[in-house]
Amino acid sequence: MKAIVVHEPGGAENLRYEEIARPEPGRGEVLVRIVAAGVNYIDTYFRRGMYPAPERPMRLGMEGSGYVETLGEGVTSFAVGDPVAFAMTRGAYAEYCVVAADKLVPVPTGVPVAEAAQMMLQGMTAHYLTRSTFALKPGDTCLVHAAAGGTGRLLCQIAKIVGARVIGTAGNETKAEQAKAAGADDVILYQTQDFVAEVKRITNGRGVDVVYDGVGATTFDGSLNCLRSRGMMVLFGQSSGPVPPFDIQVLNQKGSLFLSRPSLGHYVATREELEWRAKEIFEWRAASKLAFALDRSYPLADAAQAHLDLEGRKTAGKLVLTVSQ
Ligand code: NDP
Repeated sequence: MKAIVVHEPGGAENLRYEEIARPEPGRGEVLVRIVAAGVNYIDTYFRRGMYPAPERPMRLGMEGSGYVETLGEGVTSFAVGDPVAFAMTRGAYAEYCVVAADKLVPVPTGVPVAEAAQMMLQGMTAHYLTRSTFALKPGDTCLVHAAAGGTGRLLCQIAKIVGARVIGTAGNETKAEQAKAAGADDVILYQTQDFVAEVKRITNGRGVDVVYDGVGATTFDGSLNCLRSRGMMVLFGQSSGPVPPFDIQVLNQKGSLFLSRPSLGHYVATREELEWRAKEIFEWRAASKLAFALDRSYPLADAAQAHLDLEGRKTAGKLVLTVSQ
């Protein structure tokens, strides 16, 4: 089968489109014929070697959708031909991917299989951040960095569904408009404006209840200064680079703050949680409460270009690799 592989961690040029052996599903596993694979920032961390992946060549892609091709021993919850989707199993940048049956969800009628690959990873991330890590309630105010991004737009939309106020940040005017269209009540151009001062101004000096920060290095310190006393800093990513070591005494000085560094894997660890999040995402999409903004799609062979665009800050919304029909 054709797949994107990485022989040595490094830049986007290290992504190779090659012929490799088709994997076989083991006990409790399913072989999925991939229709579409989601492109996510986490793929760039693996490609660079920032996250460990011991096998060589390394396989990439943490999100996909397609059809059940074959069942491993003992799998009774799916049948050959079922439309399915998954996140947080690596290897989706390929024509076929083996996924544990308990990590797969059925794609409901009415959701095109190709579209399901846009919804799983960023959708369930925005879900756990706003429903579990800091469960927003009506009247809360949140700050969402990179609010026009794939995850950012979904955070804005879900925050509005639950009745919160959203302040977003964006890298340029076009992205600011896109963040507003996703529900942000105010958007700060954080490359030219002081986002801490703007947040203080917008909240009349109080600060926000929670910051959802997927940008990391360039925003972390400022984000802490945007919080109200006993507010929560949720650092969920590092698109601008990793945050350096941190003195926890700062949390005390800035108002008994809470700090979390969460990961989707820990929030879909049980079948019950995975089904809850996926079901709510699919339902909101079916009810047109949640829109998934596809920015660009690329053929599987062009994965390197997708990475260049994502890391080059050129994108706003979701990127997918189209693998088959
Ligand atoms: P995005 O679509 O948000 O793309 C990244 C955006 O980050 C850019 O478009 C840009 O928006 C902003 N950005 C700010 N500074 C930089 C920089 N120096 N270089 C590149 N981009 C920059 O990507 P995703 O939605 O895929 O991911 C967003 C974040 O969420 C990532 O950090 C990712 O790791 C994290 N994540 C974490 C998960 C978890 O469970 N912990 C799960 C899923 C995602 P702008 O131009 O508007 O500033």
